[in-house]
Amino acid sequence: MKVRGYAAQTASSPLAPWEFERRTPGDRDVRINIEHCGICHSDIHFARNEWHFTTYPCVPGHEIVGRVVEVGPSVTRYRVGDIVGVGCFVDSDRTCNSCREGLENYCESGPRMTYGSFEADGVTPTYGGYSTQIVVDEHFVLSVPSSLDPAAVAPLLCAGITTYAPLRHAGVTKGSRVAVMGLGGLGHMGVKLAASFGAEVTVLSTSPSKKADALRLGAHDFVVTRGEDALTPLAGRFDVVLDTISAVHDVNGPMTCLKRDGTLLLVGAAAEPLAVATFPLIMGRRRIMGSLVGGLPETQEMLDHCGTHGITSDIERIEPRQINEAYDRAVRGDVKYRFVIDCTKF
Ligand code: NAP
Ligand code: ZN
Repeated sequence: MKVRGYAAQTASSPLAPWEFERRTPGDRDVRINIEHCGICHSDIHFARNEWHFTTYPCVPGHEIVGRVVEVGPSVTRYRVGDIVGVGCFVDSDRTCNSCREGLENYCESGPRMTYGSFEADGVTPTYGGYSTQIVVDEHFVLSVPSSLDPAAVAPLLCAGITTYAPLRHAGVTKGSRVAVMGLGGLGHMGVKLAASFGAEVTVLSTSPSKKADALRLGAHDFVVTRGEDALTPLAGRFDVVLDTISAVHDVNGPMTCLKRDGTLLLVGAAAEPLAVATFPLIMGRRRIMGSLVGGLPETQEMLDHCGTHGITSDIERIEPRQINEAYDRAVRGDVKYRFVIDCTKF
């Protein structure tokens, strides 16, 4: 089945129109007409081979919302016409301990990523959501709450779950003190979600111009991190610092802002190592916890939570021809707060 999309052909070439094949839906597959796809900073790292494992052509996109147009004979959960979502992975071994616990994102055989992996045949690359259609096993398809704007739901499939899962895992609840570092796609969802759990939220940002937005999104405080002593007044303050920064940055200053036994939740995936000083870590028995998106049950739980609380992403809608410009703007931190591609225009 021929599908239109946008692909990067090399690490340095701009994304451009490209046609490729999707598999014919099997027994348990759902064929989805993609309507919206968010632009995650991971798409940019990947398309530009910043993590050094990209194969080309590369069709990014793992914040997918669309409409079911065909279901295989054994599909039970979805019907033609349903609005559904697909996130960062489209299969896993389903038998390992992680999969059995509903943490397919930590599949011990490695989850099959929505793009940049291989299909079950082991040779056909997976291609992502910057395209008109996708075919996915129903087990890896999410139900989108009907009360929410589908375009603004798309970023929840990555930015939403990537912040929801570790905040929950770290026990963030009413009265927790949470700092969110980096007010981008992930960061702005982290603010909304932590606030919806009843936490007191502070944004730590390099961009003074984002203060009003941070407060509107639900933050109680906003601190600009540039400058020698910027973090000194925050020493020992937070239970959790959610670090969503996409580039190499200092984590030691933010670490000192944690209480004893506090946790730095690292979800940002800078391409180069971060330097961790020993003293801020050992002095307060503090810890660093990494986290990769979320499993299917918690992703559905997050979507349902967002449905109940009326939470979506703040988005800028773009057409496919604006993707490269959007990448450059995202790298500059200039996005309010997620670009979402109109995939009906490919
Ligand atoms: P984004 O929208 O570009 O936001 C990143 C924010 O980080 C920027 O808005 C900026 O916020 C801050 N920032 C950027 N460069 C900085 C620098 N040099 N120093 C300090 N702060 C800087 O990116 P995103 O889509 O939210 O993704 C963030 C990171 O998370 C990426 O590395 C991405 O690959 C990763 N990610 C991880 C997972 C996971 O499962 N762990 C999932 C998705 C994405 P301010 O202007 O407020 O400073
Ligand atoms: Zn992502």
